[in-house]
Amino acid sequence: MRFSRLRLNGFKSFVDPTDLVIADGLTGVVGPNGCGKSNLLEALRWVMGENRPSAMRGGGMEDVIFAGASTRPARNFAEVALTLDNSDRLAPAGFNDSDGLDIIRRITRDAGSAFKVNTKDVRARDVQMLFADASTGAHSPALVRQGQISELINAKPKARRRILEEAAGISGLYQRRHEAELK
Ligand code: ATP
Ligand code: MG
Repeated sequence: MRFSRLRLNGFKSFVDPTDLVIADGLTGVVGPNGCGKSNLLEALRWVMGENRPSAMRGGGMEDVIFAGASTRPARNFAEVALTLDNSDRLAPAGFNDSDGLDIIRRITRDAGSAFKVNTKDVRARDVQMLFADASTGAHSPALVRQGQISELINAKPKARRRILEEAAGISGLYQRRHEAELK
């Protein structure tokens, strides 16, 4: 599985619909301070099910919606769509019946978030599990925030273990066991 496209609409500074094709190989995003590079990485995390506003540098989840500028009014919703190339058919069970997966998350003011996979309504948990099993995911070590390396060096052993578990692709199993124990 491979990220092949990222579309944003009303997400943070990306107020106008933005369509990024992610080609094979290494992709670099360059631009002046404040142009939205970190916002792009946050959009990736968010569409994969991130639910901590702090990871989005906000106080509440609705802070990801374009908040307005001197010349433009605020928006009422934000949407991010991530396309996965699944031509290798390595998507986890339940999601592996097509060559491409479109994961869409939309948040509307006062109405919260909704997720879709290929036009089908799904729960946040389904999307989180899809990525946890694929060893990417909102908490994946593949996504390194600004300042995160120094945090890692100073992290407690338990926190470091969670990172290794995500890399090993077993964090989805732990989540399921935890939920089974609660039932
Ligand atoms: P740097 O090079 O300094 O790391 P960057 O390219 O990573 O910069 P970002 O942090 O992604 O930049 O973008 C910051 C910009 O996004 C700021 O101008 C901020 O006002 C804008 N922004 C963040 N949230 C929103 C929002 N909800 N609505 C409108 N603009 C927003
Ligand atoms: Mg940045």
